[in-house]
Amino acid sequence: MFIEQPPEFVRKLYPRALWRMTPAEKKVYLTFDDGPIPEVTPWVLQQLDHYGVKATFFMVGDNIRKYPDVFRQVLESGHRIGNHTFHHLRGFEHASNRYLDDVSKAQDFIMEACSDVANDLLIDQALYPILFRPPHGHMTWGQYMVLRKKCQIVMWDLVTRDYSKKMRPPQVLANVMRYARNGSIITFHDSLKSWNNGNLQYALPRGIEFLLEEGYGFGLL
Ligand SMILES: [Zn+2]
Repeated sequence: MFIEQPPEFVRKLYPRALWRMTPAEKKVYLTFDDGPIPEVTPWVLQQLDHYGVKATFFMVGDNIRKYPDVFRQVLESGHRIGNHTFHHLRGFEHASNRYLDDVSKAQDFIMEACSDVANDLLIDQALYPILFRPPHGHMTWGQYMVLRKKCQIVMWDLVTRDYSKKMRPPQVLANVMRYARNGSIITFHDSLKSWNNGNLQYALPRGIEFLLEEGYGFGLL
């Protein structure tokens, strides 16, 4: 519970971050962290297309550098792009300057990669504020104070724990079924960790089907 659905006192550590969208609407918001990678991200895009769902991808800058075609696929499919640092840094382990430089470098890569695709897509992305999600949810107070002015920081209302070796696929699905609620920002990972343990392949399509059956719409951040 503590991990899957962060309690209020944890949310108050970063009060200007988005943890949950409005509870007044029966909508959830899917997010995917750690891509884009060719082994997993195209499969996620297929699933989302199949169900007609749009999502936000918090990308690692170095993966955009390595896999520009996969980045392009995500953007062309009409999904939102968010920043997840260039090297997937854990904020607590790095001095603020180093951490903030890494975030900026990732943003430069995102903008550069965006400029290679159709102009209308670029304009769509540019209209929105920069979305940033800190790897592992860790930022020092100093890092947070700077970033909250530059970006919309996005945390989550529900993390599926698809990345965890300790979780079996049905448990990941059970997390979605148990904790999803109006306004939930739900976190999956288009990463090899989530893929190699089979959690993502099992829980993503079933989770979306469950949410549709429950009458949820899917919003875009
Ligand atoms: Zn991450």
